[in-house]
Amino acid sequence: MIPGAFDYHRPSSVEEAVALMGQYGLEARILAGGQSLIPAMRYRLAQPAVLVDINKLPNLAYLSEENGMLRVGALVRDTDVEFHQDIQSRYHLIADVSQVVADPIVRYRGTVVGSLCHNDPSGDWAATAIAARAQMVIRGQGGERTEAIDDFIVDSFTTSIQEGEMAVEARFPVPNTRTSGAYEKIERKVGDYATAAAAVQLELAQDGTIKEIGIGVTAVALKALRVAEGEKLLRGQKPTRDLIRAAAEEAAKIADPNPDARGSKEYKKDMARVLVGRGLVKALGRLGVKI
Ligand SMILES: Cc1cc2nc3c(=O)[nH]c(=O)nc-3n(C[C@H](O)[C@H](O)[C@H](O)COP(=O)(O)OP(=O)(O)OC[C@H]3O[C@@H](n4cnc5c(N)ncnc54)[C@H](O)[C@@H]3O)c2cc1C
Repeated sequence: MIPGAFDYHRPSSVEEAVALMGQYGLEARILAGGQSLIPAMRYRLAQPAVLVDINKLPNLAYLSEENGMLRVGALVRDTDVEFHQDIQSRYHLIADVSQVVADPIVRYRGTVVGSLCHNDPSGDWAATAIAARAQMVIRGQGGERTEAIDDFIVDSFTTSIQEGEMAVEARFPVPNTRTSGAYEKIERKVGDYATAAAAVQLELAQDGTIKEIGIGVTAVALKALRVAEGEKLLRGQKPTRDLIRAAAEEAAKIADPNPDARGSKEYKKDMARVLVGRGLVKALGRLGVKI
């Protein structure tokens, strides 16, 4: 189908983009990779009167470490992450997810920040950002603010971005050598959205106990969820099979998926459990801990 009519703007600075978003308010949408927005417009699920195309903005495609955070600019494509050697070797969770988001063609255009802003309840980046305890940097005419990912993800397709604002960056804590993670996704075929998926990141203390942990699940509720009770069970503990099993059970408890062609409610809930368990075992294995 053909999208409805819209005005098109291609600003040349973030300030100009933000000014346009302020001028047109709820009528305007940011166009990044277009991998979700354009299909939504073609199906008339979205009918913005104004598109603000940020693809020509300079200096937004950066991937850099600063003050203990990996800064991912709003024009970093999934493939930039997928083919970044340093990220692939040190950021285990991000490396995993970067290889299973959609298909290579979508990844070539789609942006990490755009996916987080789109906040599809089956998207892969939101659960990843939850597990990694990422932050979002949001710019409006009043200035810039940084928000924890848990506050940014509000509801299905809804974030804390307000009228007249745009996201300029996602920030992921830089992992140390005792930190690892994993992303486990079940999909019907390569390139499909998740039937269910789990993101895990953990840091071991010197004595082998789990110092910090993040667990996120996606496609099993109206938004990506933090498995907070599972995290609580593992934090400060030496990982054991029983503890991992118990933590994974917490994912099934909070999962409330809709049944669809990908699977029944019961199946998806169980997959949330299975995938969290697998993710934990894989992340620990990457740190040399056999469970
Ligand atoms: C065939 C296909 C398969 C897919 N499979 C998957 C999958 O398996 N897993 C998955 O996670 N995703 C999947 N996707 C979706 C896709 O990966 C992402 O949703 C998409 O890449 C979003 O990023 P984008 O840059 O393309 O955003 P766009 O499509 O340009 O924008 C998406 C939304 O976010 C807003 N937005 C974008 N950038 C900003 C910003 N900087 N500030 C404020 N708002 C912003 C836009 O206004 C729009 O509302 C698939 C898409 C397709 C077409």
